Amino acid sequence: MALNNTPQDFPQKKLAVLGSTGSIGTQTLEVVRQHPDLFAIEVLSAQNQADILIEQALEFKPNMVVIGNEALYEKVNEALYRTDTKVFAGRESLEEAACCAEVNTVVTALSGAAGLKPTLKAIEAKKNIALANKETLVAGGELVCKASREHRVPIIPIDSEHSAIFQCLAGEQYNPVEKIFLTGSGGPFRGKTRAELENITPAQALKHPTWSMGRKITIDSSTLMNKGLEMIEAKWLFGVRPEDIEVVIQPESIIHSMVSFADGSVKAQLGVPDMKLPIQYALSYPFRPALNTPRLNFAELGSLHFEKPDTDTFMCLALAYRAIEKGGNMPCIMNAANEIAVEAFLAEKISFLQIGRLIEKAMETVTFSAEIQLKTLEETDADTRDFCRRTVASGISL
Ligand code: MG
Repeated sequence: MALNNTPQDFPQKKLAVLGSTGSIGTQTLEVVRQHPDLFAIEVLSAQNQADILIEQALEFKPNMVVIGNEALYEKVNEALYRTDTKVFAGRESLEEAACCAEVNTVVTALSGAAGLKPTLKAIEAKKNIALANKETLVAGGELVCKASREHRVPIIPIDSEHSAIFQCLAGEQYNPVEKIFLTGSGGPFRGKTRAELENITPAQALKHPTWSMGRKITIDSSTLMNKGLEMIEAKWLFGVRPEDIEVVIQPESIIHSMVSFADGSVKAQLGVPDMKLPIQYALSYPFRPALNTPRLNFAELGSLHFEKPDTDTFMCLALAYRAIEKGGNMPCIMNAANEIAVEAFLAEKISFLQIGRLIEKAMETVTFSAEIQLKTLEETDADTRDFCRRTVASGISL
């Protein structure tokens, strides 16, 4: 494949892919497969999917793999016994792997706030971060941004909207952002009333109209919490105020986000909804090597549509604005409550509409703290999960 726009001296990136068996992880490996000269895999990690991890390790021959679930260590170790790949297990090994000397770029594709600590460790070890784990910035945005400034480590977003904003900002270093238009498809239940959402099943919520993604983010998209998390992520990544971020529903998912400037000009980034594009851009920035993805056909597309989000029906988006306005550990509470609420919904322990109500209850109940330290956030995260699990188990009406 022609790489005529990538300079000869593009140093091969040595990657640690944290969460390599998930949706972003496997698509990252597809990008690596297309460009073995540009990217090499040094570390792969997975929580539970041992079989896929073993298969990936046999193909990409990393220096080491980490299986999060220690009970699966023997299985992975045995399968890779005859290879040069070293096998480790458990949370601490994951943090160490992200910092190992052979790695220069860490792709954080873990799901949930579990990504916070390994991301911070990788920043401290001066690894470039390609960030797919938005919960990290939601729970610990202030800490992560401070660490990234102190250690002069760039954080390049993989989330498609933030990649779009990042691309719109290329060459605009002298021009302050007036507004960010964060676009979203509206999810599978766009236009529905609360009454119509009463009996939604997990199977219905898992059918996203435009993007193919992991289960957690697909449910987040159906509640619009995903847009809430992304609004907070954008605030930290681009240093803007929440009131300068406007969520716009763009059902075709062709415009991935937009930025406006002081002269009224609006820049947008467009493309087919395919995560390989933002993944590759985060890894090859500022270059654009060729990528084998479908191309946009505007005549076939015909038209694009825009709407305001319905925050009365989809209360999670409003909760996110409330959480970031309050600051401190509130976004961390909201995020942890959401993780448990989504888990409980998928296990059919709470209804679709109870997701937002459980999060709101946690935000009203768990102890607020204005101070943000890693220890405080870890305690907040644990307390919130505990509160939400107890609330779900008690069966009290939400
Ligand atoms: Mg996104």
